[in-house]
Amino acid sequence: MEHWLPPATPWGTPLPSRPGPLHQLERGGPAEFFAEPRTLAELQHWLAWAGPEGLSLHSIGAGSNLLISDEGLAGLTLCLRSLRQAPRIDRPTGLVEVDAGEPLPSLAHLCARAGLAGLEWAVGIPGTVGGAVVMNAGAQGGSMAQRLVAAELLDPASGALLRWSLPQLDYAYRQSRLQLEESHGRPRIVLRAWLQLEPGHDPLAVQRRTNSNRSSRIRSQPYTLPSCGSVFRNPEPQKAGRLIEDLGLMGLSIGGAQVSTKHANFIVNTGGATAADIDALIRQVQARVLAERGISLRPEVKRLGPFSDSAAAERDNTAGGSRPSPGLRARPGP
Ligand SMILES: Cc1cc2nc3c(=O)[nH]c(=O)nc-3n(C[C@H](O)[C@H](O)[C@H](O)COP(=O)(O)OP(=O)(O)OC[C@H]3O[C@@H](n4cnc5c(N)ncnc54)[C@H](O)[C@@H]3O)c2cc1C
Repeated sequence: MEHWLPPATPWGTPLPSRPGPLHQLERGGPAEFFAEPRTLAELQHWLAWAGPEGLSLHSIGAGSNLLISDEGLAGLTLCLRSLRQAPRIDRPTGLVEVDAGEPLPSLAHLCARAGLAGLEWAVGIPGTVGGAVVMNAGAQGGSMAQRLVAAELLDPASGALLRWSLPQLDYAYRQSRLQLEESHGRPRIVLRAWLQLEPGHDPLAVQRRTNSNRSSRIRSQPYTLPSCGSVFRNPEPQKAGRLIEDLGLMGLSIGGAQVSTKHANFIVNTGGATAADIDALIRQVQARVLAERGISLRPEVKRLGPFSDSAAAERDNTAGGSRPSPGLRARPGP
């Protein structure tokens, strides 16, 4: 079955293999089993196989907000970024139906060209719609919570298809009920989303705003080096980046992991960083900010797989933070 990658394939190979605006940290160990379904039927096939095997389950999109352990991920990792058909845009009403695998920047451009306003902020977020629904992704004053009407989910335990409306997702700043439930058992999988945008705008004006947002992000954030975006949630009303910058921590490095010299809330992989280096740098920055400002920074990045400080991973609401490293099992037949 072509969707299987050999268990020993490092994440750095399969995830960044597609060119484009994806700048993951390009670090992390192998997935024990990995599948990239393109249809609901393929997804159901892998779930039906994993269930009786008792495998743990991880759902990922573009991996743009993930730090995957050097020891890799036990169980089945489902990458949902290929679960996509062309977005269905209803120009007169501004209602958009979009599959989980759709890249957020392409959706932003598509909607701008259709004269729909309200997604200009999404152009610089290099993830999928599914990841954005889970993370309540946002930027420049906009967020998924402002535009999402409903999401279709697959419950891997029962196989049921669910339609959750906005209130059921329980959104808060970079937070959703889907994230909180990741810590318990098998997380629900986002299949698609319905967004309500504003119809009838001048496409050229929306495109101008979208392009200007993109340019300002490229100017202010380190898009040319692998990173996982903002490492810490802002401890409102303060900005995590400002706190880190004020303590003179820009440029602080462990191995190839470095606090970006362009934007202090980014950690970049300048070359050869391990996930352990990045994790250690995250914890060092947290310790300095706590000691010198009395503020406990909560990571926005999701750690997946075992890390030396598994308690820290648990605190991030990550799935699998304390799971054992994958023992390599025999590769199953399709
Ligand atoms: C350069 C850069 C800039 C960034 N800027 C921003 C920003 O401005 N604002 C912002 O909010 N984020 C930003 N990010 C972080 C990231 O792009 C977003 O969090 C994005 O929404 C994650 O989407 P993803 O598809 O990559 O998800 P992943 O990183 O693959 O996963 C994120 C979480 O969602 C879950 N998940 C993903 N897809 C599914 C699915 N289909 N079903 C169920 N669970 C799923 C995963 O299990 C994980 O818990 C940035 C990242 C980078 C690298």
